[in-house]
Amino acid sequence: MDQSKQQFDVVVVGSGASGGWAAKRLAEAGLKVALVDNGRKQSDSNFTEHMPSFQLKYRDQASELIRRTRPVQKDCYACMEYNYDWFANDLDEPYSTPKDMPFSWQGRLRITGGRTNVWGRQSYRLSDLDFKAASHDGYGEDWPLSYSDLAPYYDIVEEYVGITGIPEGVYELPDGKFQPPMGLTCAETLLRNRVKEKFGRTVTLGRSANLTKSINGRAPCHYCGPCERGCVTHSYFNSAFTTVADAVSSGNCTHIPDAMVYQVLMDGDRNRATGVLYIDRITRQPQEVRARAVVLCAQALESVRVLFNSANRQYPAGLGNSSGVLGHYLMDHITGGGANGELPELTGKPNLNGPNRPDGIYVVRFRNTHDGPRSKNFIRGYGFQGGGDVGFNWSAPGFGAAYKKALLDPITGIGLGGFGECLARWENYVEIDRNRVDTYGIPVLNIHMTYGENEMAMVKEMADSAAEMLEAAGAKNVRSTLRPSAPGWAIHEVGIARMGNDPRKSVLNQFQQSHDVKNLFVCDGAGFTSTACQNPTLTIMALCVRSMDHLMQEMKAGNV
Ligand SMILES: Cc1cc2nc3c(=O)[nH]c(=O)nc-3n(C[C@H](O)[C@H](O)[C@H](O)COP(=O)(O)OP(=O)(O)OC[C@H]3O[C@@H](n4cnc5c(N)ncnc54)[C@H](O)[C@@H]3O)c2cc1C
Ligand code: SF4
Repeated sequence: MDQSKQQFDVVVVGSGASGGWAAKRLAEAGLKVALVDNGRKQSDSNFTEHMPSFQLKYRDQASELIRRTRPVQKDCYACMEYNYDWFANDLDEPYSTPKDMPFSWQGRLRITGGRTNVWGRQSYRLSDLDFKAASHDGYGEDWPLSYSDLAPYYDIVEEYVGITGIPEGVYELPDGKFQPPMGLTCAETLLRNRVKEKFGRTVTLGRSANLTKSINGRAPCHYCGPCERGCVTHSYFNSAFTTVADAVSSGNCTHIPDAMVYQVLMDGDRNRATGVLYIDRITRQPQEVRARAVVLCAQALESVRVLFNSANRQYPAGLGNSSGVLGHYLMDHITGGGANGELPELTGKPNLNGPNRPDGIYVVRFRNTHDGPRSKNFIRGYGFQGGGDVGFNWSAPGFGAAYKKALLDPITGIGLGGFGECLARWENYVEIDRNRVDTYGIPVLNIHMTYGENEMAMVKEMADSAAEMLEAAGAKNVRSTLRPSAPGWAIHEVGIARMGNDPRKSVLNQFQQSHDVKNLFVCDGAGFTSTACQNPTLTIMALCVRSMDHLMQEMKAGNV
């Protein structure tokens, strides 16, 4: 049937972490859903996690060739010869920044599943120290919801996604419904024990969306390693073969790929969204999809771009922007502070052929905790990701036989890299660039973001405290790194359609429902009121499920 003539209950834009959940939750409840996504269809036949690089034309060594069409996307470690055509062509889909404010908009995926195809899978709950951060230290705004509101939805998401982890009972990082933990290496166990003993800090297994137990026909991980190239056994969480597949197989979800959404369509008289206008990426023709409600899940920056491009007479500053807050408070995590070293007391045998555990370790936030002392230099906190294992001595000196021998001398390395909270600041914002359109004729974003004094003080401490912990664990040759990342590099952009109770100071309510247009929801990270220091995606998914349950209640009650 011609989709433009069909009336859906809900149109969901985007098939990634949030859109997959929105489509699944609604379609399995019996609603007719159109899942409109600008990617092409993903398939297991694209997955190359077991393909050796010698089978590739350029042996995965020709990054300059990839940069010709993807100069920004190639900055992302996960964009490689194996999968670069999953990523947007930066020349076709540009954005702009002021000259002195570099912003690296990586991870723009153009295939079903969005960023979940290539994500790092680290999955952490937020705590009330995060949801109520403003009450704790007086900066910014509290979220309009509490941990207890979201906890049941974290449970739902974790049980379906499958997250390996170790419960630790730490307030700052609430435990979840974990699958059995992947093992820690000897180096990691040593660090965990000594850091607990000397500082009382918690080093735990990274909580990662990789199965250790079969669920829903998905096999446990077999430790091959490069999940960012796909997984034929469906052992990591990628919405393409989980939530989206479930939505479609319910019989209630029509997936419309290659559809670049331009605008939300409105009935101005009734102040209701009526669907979306998109450009078909293949034919370049405009098309419409009509629905009783619109749920944007296109990734924070893309969804807000759609809202700005939907400005009309009633909402001249952008749809749902009566507050003027839309586009402001852009956040990402600051990275670039950490350390690495060697643990000579541990020996072992390096191995080139795996097993390759697709996970590492995590150091739980220990600064400015709910009941600990406050730092004089900055507010909020940071966590570390890292790992340690036995490796070859790649930097051995010499050449010939002596080099070969020295190379095989095992080195037990250990490293930590920080992820720090970024404060929500009005002056970090996005707007439409009036002078530029993408290849589909859609106006692009102009992004303004810098890190402030708080983030810079924090990243400096990350480098010092990482070195301090490694040294306390007995590491030698400890080198701290301090290269603060430019905004965008953590690929955790959130906050530009913030949630709040006061419609004059926020765009969305606690259910990610527009204060202005009641049948419009934005369920990606755009609604975050603050960014915490944990990776955002688990929270994005839990919030989305909660918001979709609210949408269904409101539809039943006749309010939407
Ligand atoms: C390399 C990498 C590593 C990461 N590691 C982690 C990690 O370890 N932990 C973590 O929590 N997060 C991680 N992230 C971030 C994580 O992937 C995102 O937070 C998450 O996927 C966001 O979900 P989303 O639904 O908002 O967007 P996405 O998952 O990106 O989905 C957005 C979807 O919308 C579609 N879309 C965009 N614009 C339009 C449009 N105009 N019209 C139609 N469709 C559109 C896209 O094609 C895509 O399908 C990582 C990201 C990358 C790239
Ligand atoms: S490491 Fe595990 S989850 Fe990742 S691709 Fe291999 S089997 Fe799949």
